[in-house]
Amino acid sequence: MTIQCPSCQSASVMTKDIAKKIGALIGTVGGAAQGVTGAMTGAEVGAVIGVIAGPPGVAVGGIAGAILGGLAGAATGCIAGAKLGEIVDERVLDNFLCLDCGLSFSCRQSI
Ligand SMILES: [Zn+2]
Repeated sequence: MTIQCPSCQSASVMTKDIAKKIGALIGTVGGAAQGVTGAMTGAEVGAVIGVIAGPPGVAVGGIAGAILGGLAGAATGCIAGAKLGEIVDERVLDNFLCLDCGLSFSCRQSI
């Protein structure tokens, strides 16, 4: 599907994806926070295991758990936020920008 500018019929049209970028950012931060919170629980479990393995096991297990939890949460949140932002871009915002005349328009607009 080729998108044309409704004003000057130019095919030099790009998507702005503003909400997608913001959504991905918020999702990444929120997801990381959630992941770290989950990792705290993991660290507690690691501490129990550490009782058997000794104090170094508690520290290493806790740090590894927090990093892994944060990364996993950030990745999940980023994808979820980007998906949500994509919907906002498509349905709410004028997601297309004409590079020739600078007009912003949405894909629903009939040409
Ligand atoms: Zn145009």
